[in-house]
Amino acid sequence: MDAGFYDEDQAMKCPICKHGNTQPGTVSVTLERGATTIVFRHVPAEVCENCGEEFHSAKVTEALLKQAETAVAEGVEIDVRRFAQIA
Ligand SMILES: [Zn+2]
Repeated sequence: MDAGFYDEDQAMKCPICKHGNTQPGTVSVTLERGATTIVFRHVPAEVCENCGEEFHSAKVTEALLKQAETAVAEGVEIDVRRFAQIA
């Protein structure tokens, strides 16, 4: 398996605790960029059933960063947004 990312359609063994399996779900992610703090809700993730660690696919991570950059460009200081689903 490539380091860092995973096949979105498969449950995986948690690389943090190396014990639990991950389950698909949605989580809230907080990103801070300089003066901007933005919380994305309903972000798709794989969550470890053992330690609770959250993992995002490369696609989701990329979309999160892009949406955070947009918020920074808009001059947002703090905001809570629903994560825009990616096609
Ligand atoms: Zn774990």
